[in-house]
Amino acid sequence: MNYSALKQEIADLAIKAGRDPAEIALVAVSKGISWHRMEQAYSQGCRLFGENRLPELDGKIQEAPSDIQWHWIGHLQKNKVSKVIASCSLIHSVDSLDLACKISTLSSERPTRILFEVNASGEATKQGFAPAELQKLFPELQALPNLQIEGLMTMAPFTKDPLPIRKTFATLRQLRDKLATPDNPLPHLSMGMSNDYPIAIEEGATLLRIGTALW
Ligand SMILES: *Cc1c(COP(=O)(O)O)cnc(C)c1O
Repeated sequence: MNYSALKQEIADLAIKAGRDPAEIALVAVSKGISWHRMEQAYSQGCRLFGENRLPELDGKIQEAPSDIQWHWIGHLQKNKVSKVIASCSLIHSVDSLDLACKISTLSSERPTRILFEVNASGEATKQGFAPAELQKLFPELQALPNLQIEGLMTMAPFTKDPLPIRKTFATLRQLRDKLATPDNPLPHLSMGMSNDYPIAIEEGATLLRIGTALW
């Protein structure tokens, strides 16, 4: 499906779910995709791309127009933080207190926008904070300087069964509702990939990370 068609489908699904399409952004996950192919999405208006490898991101930044926003969506090693915060406008995948501290320390020139990755399905293979762990650490995380905490991210189990998927997304939304305050409403829920984005839209996603369905 090309970018325009996917955007239209997302807008239709949003309206069906009683939501405003304007509050749902599509992050085109372009890992492994050459800039040459990404350019078609760009020409149809895509300005938001998600990457998870630094050499690949650096190469594409050289080739691509400068009005693109790059989002970091993969596990982030501490020795790569300074490069990633210099080139990405949002990090979806902050998955430990240690990593949050490192980003905080290196963001003294300007705050870094982040999401916390949550292992909302409880699968042993998944990265991220356990929901109870994030709740416990949240005061400490919020006290770190130079971080703009904008919400939460998760990945659903890879399955055809919609029930565990929906449950994972609902868990993320409920956790966000618990952590949100009037001072920081944690507006973003980054959830929904090629396999499950229609469910994510119904459960409140504001950032869809979609690769395979697009390319
Ligand atoms: C690859 C990836 C995606 C996109 O997955 P698709 O199934 O190709 O849509 C989304 N989020 C993360 C964290 C990824 O690594």
